[in-house]
Amino acid sequence: VADRALAQAGAADEQLRRLRQEPRSQTASSPSGLQSSAGGPELLLGIPWACKDVLCTAGVRTTCGSKMLEQFVPPYSATAVRRLDERGAVMLGKVNMDEFAMGSSTENSALGVTRNPWDLSRVPGGSSGGSAAAVAAGEAVFSLGSDTGGSVRLPAAYCGVVGLKPTYGSVSRYGLIAFASSLDQVGPLARTVEDAALVYEAIAGHDPLDSTSAPRPPEPVLRTLEEGVKGLRLGLSPDYFGEGLDGEVREAVMGAVRRLEREGAQIVEVRIPHLAYALPVYYIIAPSEASSNLARYDGVRYGLRVPGDDIVQQFSKTRREGFGPEVKRRIMLGTYALSAGYYEAFYLKAQKVRTLIRRDFEAAFARVDALITPVAPTVAFRMGEKVEDPLQMYLTDIYTLSVNLAGLPGVSVPCGFSSQGLPIGLQVIGPAFGEPQILRVARAVE
Ligand code: GLN
Repeated sequence: VADRALAQAGAADEQLRRLRQEPRSQTASSPSGLQSSAGGPELLLGIPWACKDVLCTAGVRTTCGSKMLEQFVPPYSATAVRRLDERGAVMLGKVNMDEFAMGSSTENSALGVTRNPWDLSRVPGGSSGGSAAAVAAGEAVFSLGSDTGGSVRLPAAYCGVVGLKPTYGSVSRYGLIAFASSLDQVGPLARTVEDAALVYEAIAGHDPLDSTSAPRPPEPVLRTLEEGVKGLRLGLSPDYFGEGLDGEVREAVMGAVRRLEREGAQIVEVRIPHLAYALPVYYIIAPSEASSNLARYDGVRYGLRVPGDDIVQQFSKTRREGFGPEVKRRIMLGTYALSAGYYEAFYLKAQKVRTLIRRDFEAAFARVDALITPVAPTVAFRMGEKVEDPLQMYLTDIYTLSVNLAGLPGVSVPCGFSSQGLPIGLQVIGPAFGEPQILRVARAVE
């Protein structure tokens, strides 16, 4: 990785020399011909960043936090990674995550835990815990993570950095190791909203290599970032402020809302009546898709192979040794929910409720420009506190999951500290492709 970083730094020097000599219009076009947004390509030149180990990096080991892929070296890079490479950003290395992005604390990695830089006895959140911790500790200027149910926004909140989960289809999933394909999105983590916006502009935009990539130009977010909240209608829903929300988190979020109101935003009460079903719906849909996606780890095509007497034994031994307990739990839940006779009762029903949740948001966004909610019910919890109780762990994502179910953009931005000095995050949710307005609101919260 160090060699690669040095080589990239050399390439960045070369690119800088060219930029000084050539007019900007010539250097702005991407060599691969991928459609990429504007936004000053030179701004990322030479900037060191950290990459969640769920994104394929050509020639650099990509483990996904799993024994199954511990020695896997991809032959190609994810589109998001490639777009950063092309702009001369320097990838320092790959960072830790929950195995296959399943978790909320980065304690589920088969390769060791990651700690919260604010308090080493606490978790950094997950599953992009390494991405958030690296930025919070000043080890990287920004990072990429992936968010299936909150995995960029939650660790951003726990580590006091900014994390953006873009609209489904706005950042290519090509080269992102799949967890739940209808929910997964790649997103940036950074110290400021401006940095996150800059990285978002670099990685967003149509990619023919991902069939779910939106065939539209990327949203330009930087140019409206400083416009403030005057005249914006911001929704507040009691559905996000009920039982289980820590008092200090509530106070910090409401304090920020009052500031936004003073700056000229209009606060409107809205309801998301089906929000209470987001968690159960997510835990049918995500494991179902995971069980299907993870069927590819058969001991033949990728990564680990544990030999057996015959192919069936090799298959089961490989999967028994290669997957950790949380991954196995999800595969079993998903296989059950998709099996004959149960599909209608569980998976199909969950899809219908998912539509109701999406409609709730559509109705809300007919009245407001963005919604303000907490990111998580509490601040970062202690390591080991929830490992024995998966349901407690799942509840951590109660405020973030619905955004993925509805395919919407959401950003987590720091809004204060608890009495113990731990960072608290605020979430801004927008309508599909509403990245410009949610980042503008987040910028006003900062
Ligand atoms: N914590 C959630 C889960 O375990 C979300 C993870 C994610 O967004 N990748 O599924």
